[in-house]
Amino acid sequence: MSALATKLIHAGELKPRIAGAVTMPVFQSSTFEYGDETDYHEIKYLRLNNTPNHVVLGDKLAVLEDAESALVTASGMAAISASLLTVLSKGDHLLAQYGVYGGTHTLITESLPRFGIEHDFVDGANPADWERKVKPNTKAIYVETIANPLLNVPELNALVEFAKAHKLITLIDNTVASPVNFRPAELGIDVSLHSGTKYLNGHNDLVAGAVIGRADLVEEIRRNLNHFGGCLDPHTCFLLHRGMKTLAVRMRHHNESALAIAEFLDKHDAVDRVHYPGLCEHPSHERAQRLMDGFSGLVSFEVRGDAAGTVAFLKRLEIPILAVSLGGVDSLISRPAAHSHAGLTPAEREEIGIKDTLVRLSVGLEATEDLMADLDRALVA
Ligand code: PLP
Repeated sequence: MSALATKLIHAGELKPRIAGAVTMPVFQSSTFEYGDETDYHEIKYLRLNNTPNHVVLGDKLAVLEDAESALVTASGMAAISASLLTVLSKGDHLLAQYGVYGGTHTLITESLPRFGIEHDFVDGANPADWERKVKPNTKAIYVETIANPLLNVPELNALVEFAKAHKLITLIDNTVASPVNFRPAELGIDVSLHSGTKYLNGHNDLVAGAVIGRADLVEEIRRNLNHFGGCLDPHTCFLLHRGMKTLAVRMRHHNESALAIAEFLDKHDAVDRVHYPGLCEHPSHERAQRLMDGFSGLVSFEVRGDAAGTVAFLKRLEIPILAVSLGGVDSLISRPAAHSHAGLTPAEREEIGIKDTLVRLSVGLEATEDLMADLDRALVA
């Protein structure tokens, strides 16, 4: 079973099938009859994320990313916070890439310092910057495969070498790439994190997360999560499982459609600049091409004019829905300065290059030509 599309359907599935059911049933039970468990963490209990629905999803995710182990969590932020609070302790220092997801940024800048964990932000594409900022108490380095909204890809081969040299744990948020386009464990990255809310599920109808990676670390994170309480409900496991089965075909369309739309916008007179790693002029193009099997479905662009004009453009659109989030069948569009990155100060946004006229389009599964026509009409008006 080597192709990812086949693994998505069959990896991790229960054998023998329950009463022959082709689709994994929902085990809607909070507790399970006691076996011969000797450890609290082995007791079968929903909060411990270990019902059959959780186990099958974890096994499937580990196979998809060629990793040793995986678990699902209540949300992407549950996966990220439990992982950072596991690998970092009081007095430790974290290196994190500039421009990480807004929720992660706030976790690092506001929550972690309250537990005595300090940080420095680094340029993901510039190893010299990491060398300048690493400290004797640095324990981990945190990046995103494709950091949105500017869609920068870090220098990941150098990151693994740097982490080895300084004995750091490597964590990557692989949400935007998805396992179809990038599998962090293949490069030697320790922990891959996902907002399963996005491409993994793909239907804008649930919130979930995943931790995938080195078995010892995933186990430590699992034990902490058992106490933090961020478990995924079994019915949501079922929906995530169903969504994941179509990930390969969905990603193929997202990749192709986003590239075509990025090329179209790049030539458009009402657009100042397009950010898409599949375009030659994107600063991460060479790395994205070298590391990934596709450039994924997000396209960011700066609308010519000012913030008010950009807001008016968004209102004229008929297909993309003005909403945060990404990675689903419905195209979604947002203005990072007002939505995902509203928690940052204007100075912080300026520092990471997020302009008021920047919009981020999550290209859904609608026909590419319909999306282009809608964008063109709204831009020209
Ligand atoms: N990582 C990225 C790249 C995201 O875009 C998001 C949410 O937008 C998250 C993590 C957080 O995921 P969740 O909303 O599932 O907690």
